[in-house]
Amino acid sequence: MVNYSAAALDQTFRALSDPTRRAMLARLAAEPDASVAELARPFRMSKPAISKHLKVLERAGLVAEEEEPGARVQSDAELRDYVRARAWGHHAAGTCPIGPRERGGVLTSDFRVHGTRGLRVVDASVFPRIPGFFPVSAIYMVAEKAADDILAQAGR
Ligand SMILES: Cc1cc2nc3c(=O)[nH]c(=O)nc-3n(C[C@H](O)[C@H](O)[C@H](O)COP(=O)(O)OP(=O)(O)OC[C@H]3O[C@@H](n4cnc5c(N)ncnc54)[C@H](O)[C@@H]3O)c2cc1C
Repeated sequence: MVNYSAAALDQTFRALSDPTRRAMLARLAAEPDASVAELARPFRMSKPAISKHLKVLERAGLVAEEEEPGARVQSDAELRDYVRARAWGHHAAGTCPIGPRERGGVLTSDFRVHGTRGLRVVDASVFPRIPGFFPVSAIYMVAEKAADDILAQAGR
């Protein structure tokens, strides 16, 4: 038995009925990474007009556009920056980060809360950046440093 949706077939035939869209599909089959500007070049059409044709093809499920990181992130350096800026673990961290107050920091580098006396924070919240996907070993290290700082200052 053949399963098909009449609406989906309508969309497909509508998308393929246009010679420009058929030519775009043929081009994309040969060059899947062609940009909108490159697709527009052989036709006497603006980029917005080509984008509308692409939308028709997308709605019919004939082409798909990469959503993340998207067409603007291409080089190795751009990809590295993109991953660095967005990757995060599922363990919340960094809600009281060490750093200068004017840049959103909450703690000094010896874990004191800015503007207070006798109050420190030592836990996963101190990191200015999330320390990788599994933060526990970084938390142990931070706790060791905090213990050293507290003992050293207590001895003064
Ligand atoms: C199910 C699970 C699995 C995880 N697996 C991993 C893993 O495999 N690897 C990894 O790196 N990380 C893992 N994590 C994350 C890691 O456990 C946490 O990021 C880390 O424990 C946070 O350390 P913390 O010192 O900030 O807080 P916590 O470890 O939560 O310590 C807070 C402490 O404060 C105590 N406390 C709370 N309120 C009070 C109060 N009012 N008075 C006194 N004490 C109080 C709590 O009892 C607790 O002991 C996991 C977390 C969970 C929940």
